[in-house]
Amino acid sequence: MEKIRTRYAPSPTGKMHVGNLRTALYEFLVAKHAGGDFMLRIEDTDQERFVEGAIDIINRTLEETGLYHDEGPDKDGGVGPYVQSERVKTGIYMKYAKELIEKGEAYYCFCDKERLDSLKTAVSEDGKTITVYDKHCLGLSKEEVEKNLAEGKPFVIRQNIPNEGTTTFRDELYGDITVENSELDDMILIKSDGYPTYNFANVVDDHTMNITHVVRGNEYISSSPKYQRLYDAFGWKSPVYIHLPLITDENHKKLSKRSGHSSFEDLIEQGFISEAVVNYIALLGWSPEDNREIFSLDELIKEFDYHRISKSPAVFDIQKLRWMNGEYLKAMDDDRFFEMAKPYLEKSLPDGKFDLKKVAAKVKTRIEIFPDIEEQVDFLRQVPEYSTELYVNKKNKIDAAGSLGVLEDVLPILEAQDDYSNDALYAKLLEYAESKGYKNGYVMWPLRIALSGKLMTPAGATEILELLGKEESVSRIKAAIEKLK
Ligand code: GLU
Repeated sequence: MEKIRTRYAPSPTGKMHVGNLRTALYEFLVAKHAGGDFMLRIEDTDQERFVEGAIDIINRTLEETGLYHDEGPDKDGGVGPYVQSERVKTGIYMKYAKELIEKGEAYYCFCDKERLDSLKTAVSEDGKTITVYDKHCLGLSKEEVEKNLAEGKPFVIRQNIPNEGTTTFRDELYGDITVENSELDDMILIKSDGYPTYNFANVVDDHTMNITHVVRGNEYISSSPKYQRLYDAFGWKSPVYIHLPLITDENHKKLSKRSGHSSFEDLIEQGFISEAVVNYIALLGWSPEDNREIFSLDELIKEFDYHRISKSPAVFDIQKLRWMNGEYLKAMDDDRFFEMAKPYLEKSLPDGKFDLKKVAAKVKTRIEIFPDIEEQVDFLRQVPEYSTELYVNKKNKIDAAGSLGVLEDVLPILEAQDDYSNDALYAKLLEYAESKGYKNGYVMWPLRIALSGKLMTPAGATEILELLGKEESVSRIKAAIEKLK
């Protein structure tokens, strides 16, 4: 069986969008699931859209997400160069374009801007206005073409698509797709600057780089019949095509920058971790046979069957991603969690008064993303304004008056206590509760409210005592007693 080879072929035009990352991930998984090779190819022939630094973003993101490539600009596998602008210099695109001209499948076009502007336009599927070329230059004689070339007249090379007949190509998910040739425009293969268009380069490169499976966004479906015609003209076997469904936001609109979380970088900046993002993105259009949702990259490699990719749009649900991120944090090894949480803890608790490692252990199972740390620990800095209503609790059968009694009782006990470890404090307070015939909760409830001013805290009363230490604890209880009086 032939070895599966896929490629991620980004254009360096800015951030790594969720859709780009999904394409990269699926390409990677298709290859790795079958023990094949995953290649990185930089598609930088559109010089106008080139963004400085974008290649670094691509490399960094692939590294952070674990999508290692077997071949690419930095890893020669014998079919390079792996950057299209470098491939241009080898003359490869021009060579194949000329071959198409020989075969009558392409032709030189010398039309100037003025003439092109006067032609009819149409709106392509991705919303761009395109000129419907009228094949004017197809009628030029060989001599006229030679003369124009000799004079150095600017030209492009266009694909020659007949007005009659149909073209069929196959997509693994959508099946055979047949279109009328009259609907296909004579697209430009080589631009006037000598660079190929994506439309031409993707075919030449996928073939000459032995790519077997192409995974890409379904905005490329409408152009695929034209690519198929190129494969057929050269007599090349076309790769297996897998066009992915659209990713939308919660309002079923195409996921855009406005959503605020459309790129990998945005998500990392917002406190998500890369494993959770990769896991979540894997499920944007693909699902396993069972309902399982948590997958490491290795598990994805094992399970990923591209036949299970869906055709329906995938909704990017930030709440779902938050939940998933929380699951990853809970499962994370304590040391790594502390390392990653540290900057957030230091920001929330800057005065060095707390054992941040202990605080980290308390919040670990209670947050979904790192910035949630702030609302979990803010009370350690200072007790917020709160209502004495918080002392009323049905389950523990306690009210404000009962709370005041408990706090007045425990104040001297805590003042006399020197060992402020959770265990010692717990034993001490249990002893007090028993002596009074109180249930645990009857003592812990008011204490926790007094120490935190909050209904929900990441730690129980004695754990908070331990974190705050004696001096601060005592002063908070005194303040609570005043408040309740
Ligand atoms: N350079 C194209 C893009 O970034 C790649 C499309 C493809 O995968 O063929 O959209």
